[in-house]
Amino acid sequence: MLEHFREQDESLSILLSMAQHKTLPHALCFTGPAGTGKAEAALILAQILNCQIPPAPPEPCPTPFFFHRCGSCRSCRKIDAGTHPDIRVIEPEGSHIKIAQIRDLCNTLLAKPLEATHRVILIKDAGRMNREAANALLKVLEEPPAGTFFILTSHQPSELLPTVLSRCQVIRFRPLAQETVIRGLMTEANLQKPQAEAVAALCQGSFATAREMVSGKGGVDAWFAQRNWIFTALPLPGRGDLSHALAFAEVLGRDKEKALRSLSLIGHYLHDLMVCRIDPKCVVNHDLMPQLEADAARFTLPRLAAMAETVRDTLVRLEGNTVLRHTLEVMALKLMQS
Ligand SMILES: [Zn+2]
Repeated sequence: MLEHFREQDESLSILLSMAQHKTLPHALCFTGPAGTGKAEAALILAQILNCQIPPAPPEPCPTPFFFHRCGSCRSCRKIDAGTHPDIRVIEPEGSHIKIAQIRDLCNTLLAKPLEATHRVILIKDAGRMNREAANALLKVLEEPPAGTFFILTSHQPSELLPTVLSRCQVIRFRPLAQETVIRGLMTEANLQKPQAEAVAALCQGSFATAREMVSGKGGVDAWFAQRNWIFTALPLPGRGDLSHALAFAEVLGRDKEKALRSLSLIGHYLHDLMVCRIDPKCVVNHDLMPQLEADAARFTLPRLAAMAETVRDTLVRLEGNTVLRHTLEVMALKLMQS
């Protein structure tokens, strides 16, 4: 999939150039939204560094980064299968990367690599190292064993301890364009174009988010059914009574992550109501245009703007540590009476 991420051409050519000129620093930090290909790029880089079959004389190639590993030698295949003994992937166990995981890694690094010419340690979501783990990693980053490369991935460089970050060269991965996500959803998840467009508009340039949205229980149909339920059940003036508003809050309040995603959908829905009569091109939920136009006709723009503000406030509160159910109830009642 990464091969289709045109947004990352610049980052990938920097990496390839460093690998070719043997100037790759011992520690890299790939930053950017989830689902922009950071971990995939790290593993392909590990293949490039260790490929046993050198590439044929260069021919014009639209994606040189990918061309520079054969993909079929023993080393490339083991990295693809996740079975190469010298290419380690460390990721959070539960909510954090713990000190025991980094201590275990440090023990492994005391021995020479078993097969690889270039050992690669990929630490996914490195911002989730707890402080002890980060400090233990810092020690090896300060004196890395010869031939060992560390690649940390993180959504935001600011998630990392400054002392760890200062040891790494940062490579930025850009959010994906909507067209890229649409193409990926159509080829990888077999979505029809209108469905892919609706999902892509909501995933904020992250293919991982888009894939997660449509790969839950019941697949894409369940996701659309849930979205449609939220839009039709959303408490608004003239839609049900106060007990309906509280029941809506109760359903949303069963799971915080789902509540956050639902609020984001509601935000887009209200945005669509505001723009569907002014600039239909900006509508996110294209497939619901008749419903949007009918709903929009019932409210003035200032009322819709006030509702959107209520939803934004609720999102901010939920991202803090407020009581989920109570906060959603307040939102539902405010929307109903707006
Ligand atoms: Zn190879």
